[in-house]
Amino acid sequence: MSRTPYIAANWKMNKTVAEAEEYIQALLPKVGAIDDVEIVVCPPFLALQAMVDSARGSSVQIYAQNMHEGDEGAFTGEVTAGMLTEIDVQGVILGHSERRQYFNETDEALARKVPAALGAGLEPILCVGENESQRDADETEAVLTRQIQADLAEVPDARLSEVVIAYEPIWAIGTGRTATPDQAQEAIALIRGLIEGRSAEAGAAIRILYGGSVKPDNAAELISQPDVDGALVGGASLDPGDFAAIVRAAA
Ligand code: PEP
Repeated sequence: MSRTPYIAANWKMNKTVAEAEEYIQALLPKVGAIDDVEIVVCPPFLALQAMVDSARGSSVQIYAQNMHEGDEGAFTGEVTAGMLTEIDVQGVILGHSERRQYFNETDEALARKVPAALGAGLEPILCVGENESQRDADETEAVLTRQIQADLAEVPDARLSEVVIAYEPIWAIGTGRTATPDQAQEAIALIRGLIEGRSAEAGAAIRILYGGSVKPDNAAELISQPDVDGALVGGASLDPGDFAAIVRAAA
C-alpha cells in the first residue's frame, strides 16, 4: 500500500503571532507546488487563528501542540478539542516527550485524549519513544509496546489508521544525535507490527513518522526507509527554508 508522505513542524514554545505570520508567508511559496506530501505546522496556541487564516486554501495544515480530553470544566490553562475545531485547526500533537516529562502527561490521559481528538474531528499525531537509559538497557521494544497499547487502547480498530504516530527517541530530540536510518526503520517497523496485530488493514495504512534532530541533510535517507512515512521536525522547522527543504526531501 502506498502511504502519502507526511512532514510536520513542531515549533514548541517559539514564535510570536507576528513571527508566525512572517513564517507562513515565507513558507507558502516554497511548498505551493508540492502536492504529494501532507504538510503540517504546529504553532503555539496563540498563533493558531492567524496561521489557519493565512494557510486557508493552501496545502499546509495547522495543528495544535496539545489539548485537554474534556469538553469543558475547571481545568485552568487548558483548551478543548472543540475550541480547536471551532477555529478550523485540523489536528493536534499528543504525548510529546516534553509534555510527558515536564507536564506529567501519562499514558492514562493519552488513552482518553486520542479518542477525544478523533471524536472531535482532529487528526492526532501520537508521539512515543524511549529514553537513553531505556535504549541502553535494551528496553526499547517494551517501552514502545507499552505506550502504543496503552495510548491507543480506546481507539476502535476501524479508526486506527486515522492516527499518525511519531516515533521520537528522546535521546535524539534537540540533541543533534539523529537515530540512524536502521534504528528508525527497526523501531517504526515494530510499531507498525503492533498496529497490524490489531488490524492488518490499519497497519498497512497508518502513517508512522520519525522525529529527533531531522535536518535538511539527513531527512531523505531517513524517510526513504520502507516503514518511515515522514518526519516530525522540531528545531529545523523554525526556519521556513529548512522546513521546505525537508518537505522537498519527502516529495
Ligand atoms: C520534536 O520535538 O518533536 C523534535 C523532533 O525536535 P528536534 O527536531 O529539534 O529534535
